[in-house]
Amino acid sequence: MAVLMDGRTLAHKITDGMRHEVDASGLRPGLAVILVGENPASAVYVRMKEKACEKLGFFSSGFRLPADVSEAELTTLILRLNNDPDIHGILLQLPIPGHLDEKKMLSLISPDKDVDGFHPVNVGKLMVGDECFVPCTPRGIMALVDAYNVELEGKRVVVIGRSNIVGKPIAMLMLHRHATVTICHSRTVDLAGLCREADVLIAAVGRPYFVDETFVKPGATVVDVGVNRVDDVETASQLFGLESPKLQKIRDKGYVLCGDVNFEEVESKAALLTPVPRGVGPLTIAMLMQNTFDSAKRFAEKG
Ligand code: NAP
Repeated sequence: MAVLMDGRTLAHKITDGMRHEVDASGLRPGLAVILVGENPASAVYVRMKEKACEKLGFFSSGFRLPADVSEAELTTLILRLNNDPDIHGILLQLPIPGHLDEKKMLSLISPDKDVDGFHPVNVGKLMVGDECFVPCTPRGIMALVDAYNVELEGKRVVVIGRSNIVGKPIAMLMLHRHATVTICHSRTVDLAGLCREADVLIAAVGRPYFVDETFVKPGATVVDVGVNRVDDVETASQLFGLESPKLQKIRDKGYVLCGDVNFEEVESKAALLTPVPRGVGPLTIAMLMQNTFDSAKRFAEKG
């Protein structure tokens, strides 16, 4: 049976340590979060980020803009925040509505306040191994594997997913740690076969229970990044089986969250496995707070 990698406990440990450091520093890190439109999942994430700021004594400024906001209005807000001395981190919650050019909007955020690490300057710095804002989810995954002493040097790491948010940056971080990295995606041939070569398998696909036991080498470390909402009982019974307690949860709550990894199958084959929820998710928020605090410290040093 796999040991579960407890992201929630590690996130608490990280934020507890940070709280003391923040108090001792006398700084008040400031995070601006911009939410465009009414996407319910995004609204939940934004509330979680604001709550995390509150707990740590950060200054948080939320901007909720209508779905039809113009590029000019969003541009004005971002440029204003770039010049606001109380703000050390700016986060544009993705996805944004289709009429807005996502790459252009992200590029407007000052690289010095880009706590999500999505600005091309930070992406480039990550690539060449310079100090930069590392995207929060990949930074969280690194914290988790390090906390469980997962060996990376010389090991085979396979990442399923090539997004700019998770797949590409985690592959780069693993490469910097001297792993041999393979990035897979929807056109990959013999996906399960490639994954079976992995000492560390990272699933960032966005498909519930996609990775079954045939993808996993016995004794591997499996990191499940996926957060999938399943809300119909029929789909759930096919995914989880008719006896699963998740079916009752859907009847009670209307939905259940699950990862990209078939937890029950993989649990009996992997050595280490992240659960969903309480795996990678809590670390993403902890790392957002860490990036914001790091930024506040850098601004304070610059004077
Ligand atoms: P994304 O941008 O949709 O990327 C998904 C990737 O999976 C793509 O590269 C896609 O390949 C690949 N893929 C899709 N179907 C595939 C298949 N059948 N075989 C092989 N590869 C396939 O998603 P993302 O933003 O990286 O997020 C991935 C998951 O992580 C989602 O469930 C998301 O909710 C979750 N997530 C969680 C956190 C957290 O804090 N826990 C943070 C971010 C994301 P192509 O490029 O070829 O289309």
